[in-house]
Amino acid sequence: MEERKLTCIGCPMGCQLQVIIKDGIVEKVTGNTCKRGADYGKKEVTDPTRIVTSTVRVQGGTLPVVSVKTRGDIPKSSVMDCVLAESYVK
Ligand code: SF4
Repeated sequence: MEERKLTCIGCPMGCQLQVIIKDGIVEKVTGNTCKRGADYGKKEVTDPTRIVTSTVRVQGGTLPVVSVKTRGDIPKSSVMDCVLAESYVK
């Protein structure tokens, strides 16, 4: 049995979560104040994802950069690849 301690990022309350994992399966999440925290705790230890916001350079525009955001969640392990990708908006 493994216990992971996480801070929920669902809202500014930042509830301190404890996630109990047994044989790779989440058995219990405690410390959450609402269901979003339980859902976050389960997902964070099994399939962590993030929405990424960043900027990309603009060629030929009036401003040098524009803000961008992923359409949805991407795997947490891909966040740096996403941020470091050389992208231009024309
Ligand atoms: S568990 Fe609910 S109340 Fe607590 S930080 Fe997460 S979203 Fe906010």
